[in-house]
Amino acid sequence: MNIAEQRVVSIHYEVKDEDGVVVDSSEGREPLVYLHGHKNIIPGLEKALDGLDVGEAFDVTVTPEEAYGDYQDGLVQSVPKDAFQGVEKVEEGMVFTAQTQGGPLQVTVTQVEDDTVTVDGNHPLAGKSLSFKGEVAEVREATAEELEHGHVHDES
Ligand SMILES: [Zn+2]
Repeated sequence: MNIAEQRVVSIHYEVKDEDGVVVDSSEGREPLVYLHGHKNIIPGLEKALDGLDVGEAFDVTVTPEEAYGDYQDGLVQSVPKDAFQGVEKVEEGMVFTAQTQGGPLQVTVTQVEDDTVTVDGNHPLAGKSLSFKGEVAEVREATAEELEHGHVHDES
């Protein structure tokens, strides 16, 4: 069975950024399972996998637009340290959920100064081309319930 819309797909994969650094991989873990055609995974990868059969390999480089989007300077903001009430010590690398007009947004602290904290709301992989390499492990028809929900359910 090959990969097509309304099918549940399992893949083993490895993702590298532009510098060849492995940013994610299914090695030593269960394969990634998703519902094809429902935007469960990034668009560029979904497109590249379309039509592949079980056991087939893939090797594709995806542009930022087809991955996690362009890096948006507007998502970088300076906020007063007072905004972090209840946090003992604000440090670089900490991740918080900020309430924005567009709903909750995950932001990462990128700089801490005397009374100002810089946060970045971009996805860590925004603005990066990503290379996906792997193999199709399994393809099956989705259940009616999975199609209704738009995501995969555990088979157990
Ligand atoms: Zn569900």
